[in-house]
Amino acid sequence: MTGTVEVINPATERVVREVSLASADETDAAIDRAHAASPAWRDMAPADRARLLRRFADAVDRDIEHLAGLEVANSGHTIGNARGEAGNVRDVLEYYAAAPERLTGKQIPVPSGVNITFAEPVGVVGVIVPWNFPMPIAGWGFGPALAAGNPVIVKPAELTPLTAMRLAELAREAGIPDDVFQVLPGKGSVVGQRFVANPKVRKVVFTGSTEVGKQIMAGCADQVKRVTLELGGNNANIVFSDADLERAATTAPYGVFDNAGQDCCARSRILVQRDIYHRFLELLEPAVRGVVVGDPADERTEMGPLISAAHREQVRSYLPAEEAVAFRGSAPDGPGFWFPPTVLAPIEPTERAVAEEVFGPVVAVLPFTDEDDAVRIANDTDYGLSGSIWTRDVGRAMRVSRGVEAGNLSVNSHSAVRYWTPFGGFKQSGLGRELGPDAVQAFTETKNVFIATER
Ligand code: NAD
Repeated sequence: MTGTVEVINPATERVVREVSLASADETDAAIDRAHAASPAWRDMAPADRARLLRRFADAVDRDIEHLAGLEVANSGHTIGNARGEAGNVRDVLEYYAAAPERLTGKQIPVPSGVNITFAEPVGVVGVIVPWNFPMPIAGWGFGPALAAGNPVIVKPAELTPLTAMRLAELAREAGIPDDVFQVLPGKGSVVGQRFVANPKVRKVVFTGSTEVGKQIMAGCADQVKRVTLELGGNNANIVFSDADLERAATTAPYGVFDNAGQDCCARSRILVQRDIYHRFLELLEPAVRGVVVGDPADERTEMGPLISAAHREQVRSYLPAEEAVAFRGSAPDGPGFWFPPTVLAPIEPTERAVAEEVFGPVVAVLPFTDEDDAVRIANDTDYGLSGSIWTRDVGRAMRVSRGVEAGNLSVNSHSAVRYWTPFGGFKQSGLGRELGPDAVQAFTETKNVFIATER
């Protein structure tokens, strides 16, 4: 143990619980146990492994209210979102529970023999999770990794360990062997670092900041360790003048302020065609003022607090001069790390609040002239994670979708991540893809075997 951390409720600033942090030695011991558990998990009959994953999913399903309550208290997520996040873990487990019996190889025609491929598990997988979506992001890693026959160790973020710890209990209840699924709360620089450095960990799944992601990738290079990176974003919501303006404007706040903007997919740059720019802002203002900000446990609440005092300061530091604020929504007074939904317009594209990832409830509204200009501005960032395109012209929707360099786009919506479709980033938003039909492959190595049949 390297001490403890006080988990703080961001809506009340009260201590929820104290949690012990694992040391480097404890991490290595956990990795040893996972490594030792590897052969039995790998060799378990596929249908048995699948059954255990379904039981895990059922245990999560029975615990949804409890898990959601923990996330409200630990992360300040609205109760509606928190239920959805726990449900997402269940769904991801159920979806990948179908994988073990379907993890087939290929038979490839060759002369003088038989050639077959196997999808072998990679070995121990370390999943490093950020604080913004503690449950889903953990599940996107451990669901397919377990299904492919790998033991998994999850390291939750220091600020938000509670739901991951509960998921470990649920896995145990479901009969997943103790050392096959472990959760180790601890520091990134200690537990996370051991995932990178300990050679018994064969793959690191990292979601977090681009800065730390680069360090993880560099560290993993030393052992040519497999790595999946889901990093930051600075996403554009492009509104053309032929769009359904009312819908585009009334949904825009939810495309950026959900989870108080602490979302790598937040559409934090709204690009609006110049001839409708003022009309769009007129429609946006009541929508932003209407966002219900407050007690996350209240069913009507649409936006809760930021995760911590330090993060609130960070978000504040991005704001330019007060004149750049076009209008704001509301936020409660008193304890809690509150920050009102904030709209910046007009604003120079070079301002930090536009050029960087704010990760808070702040959105910039920028004009553009035509299709090419919109694509140029959207791509004028090192990131490439998500985005939205609003237009009634199908051809334009397709052209712009193909033109924007991002992994996840939605047309006439701000669609959330779906567990059965691939998710991940272009450019510095990441490496590899999670979820969808191919995610299990990312946790396997292809082995080719030739068997001679000649006499
Ligand atoms: P962070 O990079 O500070 O931390 C993420 C995780 O990495 C935490 O568990 C932390 O303890 C650990 N960590 C920190 N330093 C480490 C090190 N040296 N070695 C190993 N592990 C280390 O990020 P954060 O502030 O928790 O999360 C916010 C960031 O995550 C934002 O940039 C956001 O865009 C990004 N994010 C991306 C996605 C995506 O899917 N692309 C999803 C959610 C969040």
